[in-house]
Amino acid sequence: MSTSPKAKSLSASKVRHYKMYINGEWVDSEDGELLDVMNPANERVIATVPKGTRLDAKKALEAAARAQPKWEDLAPVKRASYLFKLAQLIRRDKERLAGVLTAEQGKPLYESKSEIEGSAQNFEYYAEYARRIEGDVLPSDFPRQSIMILKLPIGVVASITPWNFPSATVARKLAPALITGNTVVTKPSSNTPLSTIEIIKLAEEAGLPKGVLNAVIGSGSEVGDELVANKITGLVTMTGSTSAGSKIMERASNHVAKLVLELGGKAPLIVWNDADLEWALRCAVWARFWNCGQTCICSERMYVDAKIKNKFVSAFVKLVENLKIGDPMSKNTDLGPMVSKSARDTTEGFVEKARDEGGKILTGGSRPHELRAGFFYEPTVIDDVDQNSQLVQEEIFGPVVPIVEVDDFEKAIEYANDSKYGLSSYVFTKDSNRVLKAMYKIKFGECYINQVGPEQLQGAHTGFRQTGVGAEGSRYGLECYTQLKTCYIDWNDKPNLPYLFPYRNK
Ligand code: NAP
Repeated sequence: MSTSPKAKSLSASKVRHYKMYINGEWVDSEDGELLDVMNPANERVIATVPKGTRLDAKKALEAAARAQPKWEDLAPVKRASYLFKLAQLIRRDKERLAGVLTAEQGKPLYESKSEIEGSAQNFEYYAEYARRIEGDVLPSDFPRQSIMILKLPIGVVASITPWNFPSATVARKLAPALITGNTVVTKPSSNTPLSTIEIIKLAEEAGLPKGVLNAVIGSGSEVGDELVANKITGLVTMTGSTSAGSKIMERASNHVAKLVLELGGKAPLIVWNDADLEWALRCAVWARFWNCGQTCICSERMYVDAKIKNKFVSAFVKLVENLKIGDPMSKNTDLGPMVSKSARDTTEGFVEKARDEGGKILTGGSRPHELRAGFFYEPTVIDDVDQNSQLVQEEIFGPVVPIVEVDDFEKAIEYANDSKYGLSSYVFTKDSNRVLKAMYKIKFGECYINQVGPEQLQGAHTGFRQTGVGAEGSRYGLECYTQLKTCYIDWNDKPNLPYLFPYRNK
């Protein structure tokens, strides 16, 4: 992603131009500035998009606020009909959408297809909740009175998404927000805006009323900040880094907007001597290297039982060396490029620091020589890494995994929990005591036991510590988009005086 003057970008290339969507209209930014969208596999510009401004974000929020009361008044099944239609259109265009996703983000095409299918499923899953946005009817402490708890829409939702799953993360926010009667302004990452715009186009085709769903593009510090800080916004739902999430929390606090924040991860993967090692090996490779290591639930550090360490690690390295890195459009590719130059620079920095600190690079550790263009980095395994090192403590978000030897399962749990992040975790053991210890004592929001992700729609995606607040997926994710309202109703025929003065005669 880079900024380019409009005239230059439009005249100098045949690249496609995408617009933003505000109040049912396709628009450029207020000041006409553009951003280039780059294919990270070959560093070519594939599209231009408007570089939105604060004013664009404000207009989108105002449109969403105007559209909200009517949207809320629709029967939930009617709202659901739009989401079902949208899911159907996403499936119709699956191949094309997967191509756009791979071109802007770099993941292998088969991973993109599965992400697009996941986006369609998100819309269906939450559309099915239309008849189940249930409140409660509770007994009162007094005769002929009722208490009802309703779940109402919050109002306008600002959705802010990252580049690593540019289609699925937006679907996971739009679907629960819309079905519960909120209207939305969504902002994709400036690195990967196209997948969001493609979904919005299909939402328009599905007939979504104008203003209900709006999309603006632009930097987090300007457009994102306006969405967060503007008083129109009732809820900010953001997926991204912990540092950006913490800034958003601060800015949203000025008007006490509600928050759903799905932030960084540093998943530990523990392998014990009683595990099915063949299976654990395959899972460990997938858990670290899918999406080129750029998944919030990717295993970011491996704790291996000392009894099996040498055997396990040498077999793991062999599997990693067999991974095919290259053109993400090819069906033989396991790892595409990283999303951007800066993402690869960060990964390189991690590896250099680990090398300086005495980490042993068992495989990888550099750019693949044969791939000259594109932000590729070799899948890398580093041994002899200290628990307190940067590699074990900070989120790498690239195809690099540190290995730490442990000789006691409780110690492995202690190391796993020694992290500011708390999203996902993995444990491989056949011992039922160890399984239960993992379930109760590993303080991470997801625990994959003898299996890997991705997470499923009905599971709550959430985390301890600095991984954020609220949840996504499941009914718990749905509830984040509703405001509870308790109604106390008196249905006595005569004035209910004992109720007004219950203690007067006591
Ligand atoms: P990021 O840099 O935090 O950006 C995420 C989004 O937030 C982008 O749209 C960004 O806009 C916007 N943003 C940044 N600063 C902002 C601010 N001050 N106010 C409002 N918006 C702001 O994250 P990323 O690099 O795209 O994604 C990688 C991170 O996401 C990793 O840390 C990963 O663990 C996390 N992630 C978490 C989950 C989860 O479910 N927990 C899932 C996926 C990814 P611009 O980039 O356009 O400026």
